[in-house]
Amino acid sequence: MKPNHIPFPPWIRKRVSTGGHYHATETSLNQWGIDTICIQAHCPNQHECWAKGTATVLILGNICTRNCPFCSVSHGKPTPADSQEPKRIAELAYQLGIHYLVITSVDRDDLPDGGAAQFCNVVSACREKDPSMRFELLVPDFKNVQENALVLLDDIQPFVFGHNVETVPELYPTVRPGGSYVRSLQLLEKAKHRWPESQTKSSMMLGLGETDDQIRRVLKDLRDCGCDRLCLGQYLKPSKNALEVKQFVHPEQFARWAEEAKAMGFSWVISEPFARSSYHAEEGSPA
Ligand code: SF4
Repeated sequence: MKPNHIPFPPWIRKRVSTGGHYHATETSLNQWGIDTICIQAHCPNQHECWAKGTATVLILGNICTRNCPFCSVSHGKPTPADSQEPKRIAELAYQLGIHYLVITSVDRDDLPDGGAAQFCNVVSACREKDPSMRFELLVPDFKNVQENALVLLDDIQPFVFGHNVETVPELYPTVRPGGSYVRSLQLLEKAKHRWPESQTKSSMMLGLGETDDQIRRVLKDLRDCGCDRLCLGQYLKPSKNALEVKQFVHPEQFARWAEEAKAMGFSWVISEPFARSSYHAEEGSPA
């Protein structure tokens, strides 16, 4: 029987190293009981990032209220927000000497603010410990509570505001069935409108069956919403039951997308097979 997966091309190889700050990062995360999207999403960059002493913290638990088949995060009934989580993350970041912290969360459609208050609490706790710390928030689409969530986030400006469209609208029914492309664009647009001085950012996975024209259209839509920063990476099946990879995009094609995106006006672009929303996030971020 023919396997239904495409073999990895030679460029999908990542050297695994546990050197540098890897063990310190792992130990601190365990000590403070902090979850990361690095682990939950089986990110291929985990060793590299942790060795550099950086990780993306996952707040509000590791159970998502949605069930996107590209993602390996568990879904179901989430746990209540942990009031001690902000303090523990602040201690972790301080201990690891993190100056630029990327914070993300599972979707929390069960909460009246979509989880925005916990983002605020984490940022405030970190600033109390180290006022010079800078932040990038990678937020869910806040479904029906976008306004409410953005009002709350007003209080903790400045930060880079990230929200991922993930794929082209044509693939939403299979890739992001609980999401809405329009809603995601609206969130990015509202954020830019509210905080024109702040950078907004979005990411897309390639290799799920999208066409070049569909990708181009998303890039244009993002620019029309004022999106400043763009990340394009190769989709890699993170777990046994996740969607199959439809295509491996050649690194040279990623480079061409980077050129095209820059020509469209994105101020910062990362486009390579292992690029992920928080990969090299600090580079080129506002000081
Ligand atoms: S790219 Fe982001 S999610 Fe992946 S290991 Fe690095 S910090 Fe974690």
